[in-house]
Amino acid sequence: MSKLVQPHGGKLTPVLLPESERAAALAKAKTLPVIRTTSRETSDLLMIGMGAFSPLTGFMDKANYESVVNTQHLTSGLAWPLPITLSVTEEQAEALTIGMEVALVDDETDTYCGILTVNDKYTYDKAKECKTVFFTDDAAHDGVIKVMAQGNINVGGSLVTFSQLGYATKYGDYYATPAQTRALFDEKGWKTVAAFQTRNPLHRSHEFLCKMGNEVCDGLFIHPIVGKLKEGDIPAETRLECYEVLLKNYFNEKNAVMKVYPMEMRYAGPSEAILHAIFRQNFGCSHILVGRDHAGVGDYYSAYQAQEIFDTYKPGEILCQPIRVTAAMHCSKCDGMTTEKTCPHGKEDHLKISGTKLRAMLANGEVPPSNFSRPEVLQILLKYYAAK
Ligand SMILES: [Zn+2]
Repeated sequence: MSKLVQPHGGKLTPVLLPESERAAALAKAKTLPVIRTTSRETSDLLMIGMGAFSPLTGFMDKANYESVVNTQHLTSGLAWPLPITLSVTEEQAEALTIGMEVALVDDETDTYCGILTVNDKYTYDKAKECKTVFFTDDAAHDGVIKVMAQGNINVGGSLVTFSQLGYATKYGDYYATPAQTRALFDEKGWKTVAAFQTRNPLHRSHEFLCKMGNEVCDGLFIHPIVGKLKEGDIPAETRLECYEVLLKNYFNEKNAVMKVYPMEMRYAGPSEAILHAIFRQNFGCSHILVGRDHAGVGDYYSAYQAQEIFDTYKPGEILCQPIRVTAAMHCSKCDGMTTEKTCPHGKEDHLKISGTKLRAMLANGEVPPSNFSRPEVLQILLKYYAAK
């Protein structure tokens, strides 16, 4: 019997076909009308496929869309912070009828990924969606830009998927579904697991926070996003090398596991933190570390808004609970790693390097101090920037 937290809604609902059925599904898809999907839509399809978005088994119909935008819950009453949608133009929508099957093809790579059985098509209010999901409809926000560029009609329907878009090949064992991570955590005998969300290389501050999570839970699950990021973010392959070297040299691998997932960042800050918790629950995590400006971008969210939003849900609605942490850094007076919350000293004692400054240093071949980042990690980053 698994001791892990149960999936969101009680059970995993993956829709990725078994390997033996994928070729036939692909052949069938090639006979169907096509909807081309954006990288965000494809990444959601992959998450639905692997069961990460359980209990979702497709793109949201109007009733669920409106329920989520208005109340942050599905029509079933289950917590869900943001819409998972597929959009088309009015012209494309005209050709779609209820019950019809369509093939979903990733626009960037021309890959057939799944078959959708259409159960709804509906107009939606993009500005309203942005204000509830992103807390802004500012046209400069990275997430708002993508919603505003979507087609005007959402298409709801249930999915079967048959492609992993090359992720499973590229990442091998690091690419794991919720069923696989649950089996792994069970094998290790874990009951509580702390997830660490990341889209960056891990520096000393992140390592420190990860270890806090590992100290209070049986296991640590380092879970980097490897879907599409913003311009200027470090590519997944380079980050993976950094994670590997750090795990090997500075973590107790008996108690820590690293796997990757294919989602694309929405930069929705607080709303995305809730989504992160819900799908980590599906991966088997009882806890998730939520720090300063989790999943944020620019100055759109206050420092700890992504922690506070958890209080707007009733106890028990989301079983993966936040471990609320403040920013960590090295302090010269503490003579070690510390946090904003626990250190009594001033800014002048804290070693902080902004993302912009760090990029400039690395690009110039300057080596940041080892109290900021492990030398093994810095070597990989310096090599990456030198080759750019
Ligand atoms: Zn201090």
